[in-house]
Amino acid sequence: MIYHILTLFPEMIEQGLGHSVIKRALDEKKIQLDLVNIRDFAGNKHNHVDDYPYGGGAGMVMQAKPIFDAYNNIKKRLKAPCPVIYMSPQGKPFNNEIAKKYSKLDEMVILCGHYEGVDERIIEEIVTEEISVGDYVLTGGELGAMIVVDATSRMIEGVLNKEESHQTDTFEDGLLEYPQYTRPPQFNGKSVPSVLISGNHKNVDKWRREQALKRTLEKRPDLLAKAKLSKSDKKYIAKLLNEAEMKGNTD
Ligand code: SAM
Repeated sequence: MIYHILTLFPEMIEQGLGHSVIKRALDEKKIQLDLVNIRDFAGNKHNHVDDYPYGGGAGMVMQAKPIFDAYNNIKKRLKAPCPVIYMSPQGKPFNNEIAKKYSKLDEMVILCGHYEGVDERIIEEIVTEEISVGDYVLTGGELGAMIVVDATSRMIEGVLNKEESHQTDTFEDGLLEYPQYTRPPQFNGKSVPSVLISGNHKNVDKWRREQALKRTLEKRPDLLAKAKLSKSDKKYIAKLLNEAEMKGNTD
């Protein structure tokens, strides 16, 4: 996967993604970053890429032309047309499903806005999808782009090693992941659940599934409506709900 990123702050992305698993993926060329500085396409001696908004109001707007020229420069390197994502608080909320879809691409272009955002005409001209990383406003699209790169990369084959597999991660099967424990077996008087050190893999799997169901019900009940649930999953949830009701009646 090659991520072509249009930004005014390439160093921010380079530094942000230059660690741990993503750094390893970059070093091993499992993924590639093509960071394009929009300012290199300013086309004026002061390197200006923004201007006052028509109609007045606060802040500056990124001009269409430098972005368009920077995008055309990337276009020359694309093997085939690919999605052009604009990071925007007005976009579709980013989630695991979208990350999975993007992880199957060979290339994608990500446009990072700054200041008051970009001239609307550049969205009309080059953008295929707008993506938001949450209902809040960031100062720029770079942090969002890093989130998209990180979340999609770890789904690309070979980026995570066997021990780091994403298959049991939260959201993978529509549920939150079960609780995790590591050594020591005792911490501050708290023990690791005995089933996890029993050596009985069948019981461990059962316990993990039930814990995943339990915490999804407690923390994100909205996810259960879409999750793939077996007959025994549904029975377990009914049992939890029943217990909660009984507790409510006695409280
Ligand atoms: N004036 C814009 C608005 O109200 O929609 C917000 C501009 S914001 C200060 C500057 C840039 O940060 C945006 O162009 C976008 O690229 C990025 N950004 C801000 N919030 C974001 C979010 N929640 N998700 C993705 N990108 C975001």
